[in-house]
Amino acid sequence: MNILIMGPAGSGKGTMSAKILESFKIPHISTGDMFRANIKEGTELGKKAQEYMNAGKLVPDEITVAMVADRLKQPDCQAGYLLDGYPRTLVQAKSFENLSKEIAKPVEVVINLVVEFEALADRITGRRMCKNCGAIYHVRNHPSQVEGICDVCGSPLIQRADDTEEQLRVRLDEHEKNTKPVLDYYREKGLVVDINATRSIDEVWNDVAAALENVK
Ligand SMILES: [Zn+2]
Repeated sequence: MNILIMGPAGSGKGTMSAKILESFKIPHISTGDMFRANIKEGTELGKKAQEYMNAGKLVPDEITVAMVADRLKQPDCQAGYLLDGYPRTLVQAKSFENLSKEIAKPVEVVINLVVEFEALADRITGRRMCKNCGAIYHVRNHPSQVEGICDVCGSPLIQRADDTEEQLRVRLDEHEKNTKPVLDYYREKGLVVDINATRSIDEVWNDVAAALENVK
């Protein structure tokens, strides 16, 4: 199955992606990984991309789309793929549409993880992290035994500077602004399934699995 997954930071996209990969035995295609692989292997596309990155410029769409094409032609994509972080713009969505039709691998479903501001704000502003060992706590859902002190290593807990409601609002607005054209494009094609992601992992996964089952 050919799946595209979208959702802001904090929507549990990584967790749902892992579950999808496990259930469907398809590869995870992220442009970040693809760029790194092409650059590491010194492919023509990798060299071109590197030139733009060295110059501090955005890699042009035609290079990215060509990389995606190469990737999707590989044998492990026979049963489908899970695209993550691409397409990011309407231009990319359209060129990807042409390409994916050429190689007979068009997106069949778009899983859109939707978060409610209030619920996510509660989750994020209550988060505390151990600077030393990276353990993560939540002041209500998962407090440390001694307030402000890590259970694991005894170091002080900190709140990340961007774990505030204001920063969250900025991140969510930015995400919505950036993804709206792409979502609208797929919505018109009837491919988008909106999933309320501010629930337990099991509840969200139930809905995701049902949506994917519907496509089969
Ligand atoms: Zn610790």
